[in-house]
Amino acid sequence: MKLAALIDLQAVDMRIVELSTQRDALPVRRAEVAAEITALEREKQQLEDAVERARLDRRNREGELEVQQRQREKYETQLNDVKTNVAYSALLTEIQGAKRMIGELETEILELMDAIERDTGRLAEIEVELTEKREAAREELESIDSESAAIEQQLATEEHRRNLVAEKVEDRLYRVYDRLRRAQRFPALVPLRGSACGSCHGYFPPQVVREVTHHGTIHTCEACGVLVYAEHQE
Ligand SMILES: [Zn+2]
Repeated sequence: MKLAALIDLQAVDMRIVELSTQRDALPVRRAEVAAEITALEREKQQLEDAVERARLDRRNREGELEVQQRQREKYETQLNDVKTNVAYSALLTEIQGAKRMIGELETEILELMDAIERDTGRLAEIEVELTEKREAAREELESIDSESAAIEQQLATEEHRRNLVAEKVEDRLYRVYDRLRRAQRFPALVPLRGSACGSCHGYFPPQVVREVTHHGTIHTCEACGVLVYAEHQE
């Protein structure tokens, strides 16, 4: 009778442990859901900054390009007016320089345009992903919330049941058991396996085995500390 109450109590306690473990895992899941969104938001911010810098860069390069083009036109106009070969070849050198600068600037501008296009494309993808992820996260968080509420409710029920069952366990036995439980030593109550402890498999002296199997004694295993009982009385 006292054994049955203790077995019941342990079943309730193990259910409580299981529910508590489930409850403790929920904040981790909430954080995981938020982390994906945070990562995307960070990528979005970085890309927006990059696009802004590239646009500014592009405007500056276009300004320089215009200056170089005007410079080149000016030199080309001057070619018609030069009187000496020396002046003529000096102008040609200047024109070559301006052309080279123009070529470099045009390449840089094209590269910037490519980068802007690529980043803008990725930004559009991120927007879609963010919308989907936020929607999924909302659903996931709602489901975690309702799971949490269900677990709390079951825990309250089990705690209540525990109080009722615990009252039926003999005081001395309860104290030993509860010390094991608080040390998270589960299962704290194990059946005898042959003539060995059901937890650590250490063998008991024949006298102890007899007491457990014939008299229904609950024995504390000296090796591992758990309470040992006989499933079948002889
Ligand atoms: Zn043992």
